Amino acid sequence: MSDRITITGLEVTTCHGVLDSEKVEPQRFLADIAFDIDLRRAGETDDLTASVSYADVAQAAEAILRSEPVDLIETLAERIAASTLAFEGVESVEVTIRKPQAPAGVPFHDPLLGGPAVTVRRYHDRPVVIAAGANLGDRQATLAAAVNALDATNGLTVVAVAPFVETDPVGGPDQPDYLNTVILARTRLAPLTLLDRLNQIEAWHHRTREVRWGARTLDLDLIQVGDPGDDSDLRSDTARLTLPHPRAHERGFVLVPWASVDPGARLRTADGVHSVVDLLDQVDTTGVRSAHS
Ligand code: ADP
Ligand code: MG
Repeated sequence: MSDRITITGLEVTTCHGVLDSEKVEPQRFLADIAFDIDLRRAGETDDLTASVSYADVAQAAEAILRSEPVDLIETLAERIAASTLAFEGVESVEVTIRKPQAPAGVPFHDPLLGGPAVTVRRYHDRPVVIAAGANLGDRQATLAAAVNALDATNGLTVVAVAPFVETDPVGGPDQPDYLNTVILARTRLAPLTLLDRLNQIEAWHHRTREVRWGARTLDLDLIQVGDPGDDSDLRSDTARLTLPHPRAHERGFVLVPWASVDPGARLRTADGVHSVVDLLDQVDTTGVRSAHS
């Protein structure tokens, strides 16, 4: 499903290797880097900020190759993979390091591409929390279909689904009660790719956006990506995406199902990281009832 950017044949002559002689006698190292990233928006907008600059990735890799000597090309591959994955939007990466002049005690036919090489493949595997709600049509069937569609998404695996709750509408016009749940998943997808996917699943269920906070067949909100417990949660504040979700901490219809499926969950708010159970103590949950689904 994802797209790919490939950087092939980055070459640096420098000193790495297990032998003492390799620490002082430079030889050639070649790196191939291929990373998966959703390029649809970049292709549609012609805007580099919607992609990742291959120059930045390549220069970071070159700096790693030129840094102080290490024993193993595995180490170089691992470091370049980590550096590449750190670019926003990169989902996964494959790095190959070749050492055509390696002193292996045997002749290699091709002085450029012969000799040993190692390849490592690394990908993000982040926890993600998604809130789902429906108050039109067959709400239960819609939420179940949304969970299935999420789990069928390449790069996302559903881990747990909270018991459904029935909730009074909050804000917006007069409208029917909601059925809500919270879905825990793991993903290698970038947040904006996830948001596109949530919008696509909403659209399949004929979600329209005429009235803000109005009735809807399906609402899928991205609550949190990454783990605030170890500070690895992603933060975003753009017109398209705010992360963590700016209203999750005050919504009983998010916190009740979330705490029931993950009592140890934590959420970052403007004043720090809180346990979801503690946040729940501070919100009015009278409008949230068990749905006996
Ligand atoms: P709401 O979920 O507040 O009822 P919508 O579903 O209509 O409203 O979303 C309104 C906009 O919110 C969307 O265009 C979307 O791009 C934006 N948005 C910002 N942050 C998030 C988020 N974390 N999850 C989902 N949508 C978000
Ligand atoms: Mg929404």
